[in-house]
Amino acid sequence: MQAPDFAFQHAGLDRAEPMRAHPAELDAAWQDAQLLVLNEKGEACCYSASEIYYPASSMFLRRPESATWLGFDDGQAFFALPQDTMVHAPHEVISIRAAAVRWPARDAAVFAQAKAILHWQSQSKFCGRCGGFLDLKTAGYSAVCGDCGLASYPQTHPATIMCVSDGEHLLLGRQPAWPEKRWSLLAGFVEPGETPEQTVVREVWEESGVRVEHVRYVASQPWPMPMALMVGFDAYAPMQAIHISDELQDARWFGRDELEALVAADELTLPDPLSISHYLIMRWLHADSAIGEFWHTKA
Ligand SMILES: [Zn+2]
Repeated sequence: MQAPDFAFQHAGLDRAEPMRAHPAELDAAWQDAQLLVLNEKGEACCYSASEIYYPASSMFLRRPESATWLGFDDGQAFFALPQDTMVHAPHEVISIRAAAVRWPARDAAVFAQAKAILHWQSQSKFCGRCGGFLDLKTAGYSAVCGDCGLASYPQTHPATIMCVSDGEHLLLGRQPAWPEKRWSLLAGFVEPGETPEQTVVREVWEESGVRVEHVRYVASQPWPMPMALMVGFDAYAPMQAIHISDELQDARWFGRDELEALVAADELTLPDPLSISHYLIMRWLHADSAIGEFWHTKA
């Protein structure tokens, strides 16, 4: 499979899920483990200018209760830890967006995994059923109520992002809070009882008044900001009148030549290159035969 050109696509670690229930194996893995430390903002706190990870057993002789198991890569074990348990002052603090550009792809994927699960842990202090205190179990992958026993697990929030086109024109929108000149694809969270394909059709209709006729999955991207999964689609819709919702400041159709000219003239900016939205737009601009066929056969 050709690697798509956006962040967090590396397969990351072998998560070795059965290990989570075996403290003795986790303790053994700790001795030579690498430790990724995240602060309360979800930024990575690096050991030194050249080292992302802390040597785990040099920081804590015994594995702390708050250590979250991440997995193995070629025999090397990795854990994550909140920064408030550390004494060592970090040499460098880096955001996930910066790490996605600067770090090796595997390490950016490790960061994405750690950031999403530590965020879930930070939001999982009390039982949703009885209000009792939750205790983290299974090396950080479950939270169990001390009063009623209810267990909860890490969540991922699926959202769709869609390349809506008639083949020759692309539908882009602008949200009021975005930087000036920024345009992007329409997007929206999957609601309960809905498939992602149904979300594409509903969101495009709600936000722009455009009726999508066909939808095809393209690719997905973990988006741990804080814990979403972006699911990317091609969507065919005949070019038609647009009626924007309150969520958008503007939406319109762009031809390929027009869009490229606006970008070249710096009159329009596209999303960050690390995002799947940028990838989908570039893919449409330089349409390969597969997506050309998709839109052609629907036209
Ligand atoms: Zn409870």
